[in-house]
Amino acid sequence: MVGTEHSPDEEPDTDPADAFGALSDPLRIDILRALGDHHREAADERAIGFADLRRRVGVDDSGRFRYHLERLRGNFVEKASDGYRLTFAGAKIVVAILMGTYTHAISKEAVELDSDCFVCDDPAVATYENGLCTVSCANDHLLFRWQVPPTAAATATLPEIVDVAGLLARQGMERTLDGYCPECYHAIESAVITESVETPVFRAQCETCGARLVCPAGYALLVDSRVVALYQRHGHDLHEYYLWDLPFIQERERYTLIEERSACLEIDVSVASETLSVALDETGHVVDYSLHEK
Ligand SMILES: [Zn+2]
Ligand SMILES: [Zn+2]
Repeated sequence: MVGTEHSPDEEPDTDPADAFGALSDPLRIDILRALGDHHREAADERAIGFADLRRRVGVDDSGRFRYHLERLRGNFVEKASDGYRLTFAGAKIVVAILMGTYTHAISKEAVELDSDCFVCDDPAVATYENGLCTVSCANDHLLFRWQVPPTAAATATLPEIVDVAGLLARQGMERTLDGYCPECYHAIESAVITESVETPVFRAQCETCGARLVCPAGYALLVDSRVVALYQRHGHDLHEYYLWDLPFIQERERYTLIEERSACLEIDVSVASETLSVALDETGHVVDYSLHEK
């Protein structure tokens, strides 16, 4: 080709605007949902015939149905010898629709939790709005914030949403530390920031989908087996605490900046008479432990 700056393999197969444009008609969304229902019920990769699919969607006009089905072909629907099925992208879109990502605007009345702000001791208050679960106090100290999909929030109480948010935060940390973006599964890189912040911060940003994760560096220990085991040894379940209540997350004095071998930060986790000092490298991965008895 002449006159283009990009080589062909740098170009995506499909312009995202064109792909999403194909979803502009409500009937096409109904078709994707019907295919999703079919796949769930069939519990295998079997395709569905044209007539069966049309009946499922409930459209009598076969010409009109075919027109809209054809608009979905390629990106979201593929045609096999025995009928139609969702592509990988089509299946993702159906999940997003079912999760309410594009449609639900749910918000909940603020609720006081059985926890206090670690800065000012005012009660911690949870809210849910625009897919975000936020815990803060009356003085606007932000204690915790994480995304929760609208479907998970729709019928839940706010304390339940906070629990789900905590679970998702742990899962998000685990996946990020394994090197995968929690949103799109592309490779993601993380870093521990110790300069110009009050408390060291764990940060990761996905270059592919733009997902961003910013939290106290202590979050990296939530999924560490030795930290979990330390709590267990003393009869506590680490996962039953609110994240912002955990001393190794909120207390600045638990953090020590170090420069030893590959480590840049040490965090002390104390339970009863034991203190586990956990050293993190600049990507937030644990590189060393030491255990002390009081
Ligand atoms: Zn406060
Ligand atoms: Zn991503």
